[in-house]
Amino acid sequence: MHNSGQASDLMDSPDSQDRLQTHCVHLGGKEGRNGPYVPPIVQSTVFDLGDAADAEAIFSGERSGFAYTRFGNPTVEKLAEAVQWLECGKGAMVTSSGNAATLCAITAAMYGRKGKLLTHPDIYGGSHELLAILEEVYGLSVEVLDSANEEKWLESVSRAGAVLLESPSNPLMRLIDIEATVQAARPSGVPVIVDNTVATPYNQRPLVLGADWVVQSTTKYLNGHSDMVGGCVVKREALTSQDRRVHKNLGGTVNAMEAWMILRGMRTFALRMKAHNRNGAAIAQWLAARPEVERVYYPGSGEGRQRALFERQMAAGSGLLAFELKGGKVAAERFLDRMKLITHAVSLGGMESLATRPAMSSHRGMTPEGRIEAGISEGLIRLSVGVESTADLVADLEQALGD
Ligand SMILES: *Cc1c(COP(=O)(O)O)cnc(C)c1O
Repeated sequence: MHNSGQASDLMDSPDSQDRLQTHCVHLGGKEGRNGPYVPPIVQSTVFDLGDAADAEAIFSGERSGFAYTRFGNPTVEKLAEAVQWLECGKGAMVTSSGNAATLCAITAAMYGRKGKLLTHPDIYGGSHELLAILEEVYGLSVEVLDSANEEKWLESVSRAGAVLLESPSNPLMRLIDIEATVQAARPSGVPVIVDNTVATPYNQRPLVLGADWVVQSTTKYLNGHSDMVGGCVVKREALTSQDRRVHKNLGGTVNAMEAWMILRGMRTFALRMKAHNRNGAAIAQWLAARPEVERVYYPGSGEGRQRALFERQMAAGSGLLAFELKGGKVAAERFLDRMKLITHAVSLGGMESLATRPAMSSHRGMTPEGRIEAGISEGLIRLSVGVESTADLVADLEQALGD
């Protein structure tokens, strides 16, 4: 097992991103002398429990051991160790999707707690829909508050049941002060959950900033190849038996094959993030200088408070950005129709560049007025910048924007 005790020291060091790369290259590997270098895919539902005493020890939790893949599996465990290390946590649970991870984290964090789940309007659309179901069916009380009013946000944090935040937000790339949120939450023991999917642990480590839980859609940057769906939950402290109980009984666990696929993708995680960060920043800058473009949203490209927060909280801006065209919906649709190298598709974090119009896709369920209020104009385009050559991406953007 990788030494998670050293993760935060490692991450704090100035060359942490280079060392993270070395670590990623070896993820899941080294089974020991004469063992396979790449861990096997243990595609088995059940495990031999041994004699009666062994079985008793495993089921009572006295000894670790596998019984049934929904409860745990050696390949899935390797992935849990890997994401735990990357996020600098002390416990991790792997899930079948990012949404399953959000459900698992909310349930574990809110267990036995009273009060509202506090969140903000610009979280991922799927998280909104999940919260709406939890409200309607299970009576969870949710408070949605704009984090831009920082004083009000922090005041609400202090009396919440738990907090679910996403920074940078998607698609407008607004940052929320994780440390300030944690400081407001601590005195009353309010757990803070951060969706770190867009920033990734390469660029931001919410647990080091004091958050209690991190959720990730591993579908995105961690897997990076747009060929599967998955998620994970990482906790700053060790998992309790209650956390494990929630995880295995909510049922959103994974098979060995999927876990192995994500681990395989993660070997190139650091390499890919380097390229996403470089391309993301270059494309954001290039777009900002174009006459057709009204505005670009990219972490760190803002002014004042947002800029300062970026410098404090993130190492780089990642590969996701949004931009508004002056010609509104007509210009945006024309642009999407003319793209050649970039694919018109939802999702993000894969090696290939993808673009979509949030008003048509992720934010379609909102009313037009609601979208305007949330800053999602008809001409807004979200671009997941891939790892293609910067020059090829610029050429495609140029021809798609041009006459
Ligand atoms: C995609 C995404 C999710 C949900 O992940 P799935 O793997 O699609 O379930 C959650 N949060 C963010 C920020 C995402 O981008």
